[in-house]
Amino acid sequence: MIAQVEKDACIGCGACASVCPEIFVMDDDGLATTLQEQVPEDLEDAAQEAADSCPTEAIILS
Ligand code: SF4
Repeated sequence: MIAQVEKDACIGCGACASVCPEIFVMDDDGLATTLQEQVPEDLEDAAQEAADSCPTEAIILS
């Protein structure tokens, strides 16, 4: 699984970084970014939960 944040859609709410901090962190601009795009198998559920928690659907999992 690959995780990406669509910066234009992110409103910086912090939900993803709270739900799955192993993958999502807040950058200096106050927007979410990925620590690593490649999501390890054991973190796929958490990454999915983070995407589901995003109010603007800014997280793209593929
Ligand atoms: S949950 Fe969505 S809107 Fe909130 S910080 Fe993460 S990517 Fe941005």
